[in-house]
Amino acid sequence: MVNSVSILGCTGSIGRQTIAVAEHIGMKVAALTAQRKIDLLEEQARRLKPEFVAVYDEKAAKLFKIAVADTDIKVGSGMEGLIEAATMDGTDCVVTAVSGSVGLKPTLAAIDAKKRIALANKETLVCAGEIVMKRSKETGAEIVPVDSEHSAIFQCLMGRKEGELKKILLTGSGGPFRGKARAELEDVTPEIAVKHPNWSMGAKISVDSATMMNKGLEFVEAMHLFGVTPDDIQVVIHPQSIIHSMVELIDGTVIAQMGVPDMGLPIQLALTYPERKPSMFERMDFWNMKDMTFEAPDYEKTPCLKLAMDAARTGGTAACIMSAANEVAVHAFLAHKLGYNRIYDAAAGAIDAVGVTQHPDLDTIIAADEAARHYVRETYKV
Ligand code: MG
Repeated sequence: MVNSVSILGCTGSIGRQTIAVAEHIGMKVAALTAQRKIDLLEEQARRLKPEFVAVYDEKAAKLFKIAVADTDIKVGSGMEGLIEAATMDGTDCVVTAVSGSVGLKPTLAAIDAKKRIALANKETLVCAGEIVMKRSKETGAEIVPVDSEHSAIFQCLMGRKEGELKKILLTGSGGPFRGKARAELEDVTPEIAVKHPNWSMGAKISVDSATMMNKGLEFVEAMHLFGVTPDDIQVVIHPQSIIHSMVELIDGTVIAQMGVPDMGLPIQLALTYPERKPSMFERMDFWNMKDMTFEAPDYEKTPCLKLAMDAARTGGTAACIMSAANEVAVHAFLAHKLGYNRIYDAAAGAIDAVGVTQHPDLDTIIAADEAARHYVRETYKV
């Protein structure tokens, strides 16, 4: 178990839940970082009294520094500030809850500094899975996933010997538009798309859940995190989100992890691992449980899922390009500047336009990410 934590992206959904868990289990919060929501950040910082706070946006950082001038809190800004929060002496564990590829550099820096990574940023493994996993093996920095599916798989594999795993069964609810054809979704608005049936999440990931790009990104992540090939992962649609994912072992046994759909649970485990502590979350109620059903994904209706699975097979920078293009497209959709179905078009188009490089280094990854963003901005004028 770790004693202190830096929370990167503390004003977002995962960040706020991490703070609640840290307060519940009495874990010291060493550092906080936020992009620009300084009002909430100030409230959090005054309550938690971290040593260090970084604000990514330079202008907001200046305002924040003035706001907390009466405290001992050290304030940083930009990427440098995020990296300091991720590597400082006073922290054992870094929760990477920032959204987007901005999480990449601080996560790698934290791995080099041998911190535990409570991984909640998808882009880190999607874009740089090969590099991240290699470096964590070299430095011995633990990566404990926070995403509910990967936490479930991680828990199902706890104590297993290498070679016992046959395949990963990655479950997904299918999102709010399960069963709907692409043509029916042409006029979907952000307000409708962000309403997930089971989970309460940030806007970007809610849209990704609706398009099922989220499941696709999780597919790529699972491949890297658990060192398996795309053929070893099967996506299973389980609309009730009671099972959070499963593993099939070589003898045919299937182990599933269940729990109430609350991100606080995997967050807490990432902080207390390998120990467990009593939690403040609701318990499962088997007498009032809905049916558990399972179905195969319909790839025609979820082209983003198919695109991501194909990108996982292509390897190299394919998934990074797709993810970066998706990120720009989703933000444009949320701002009412791009139609819902154009999200897939943008992500697929970017892979073709940018072109894939195999075994990229970090600079190549960052360049591919930039090129994908540029492609979407130019092509769709967003
Ligand atoms: Mg998930």
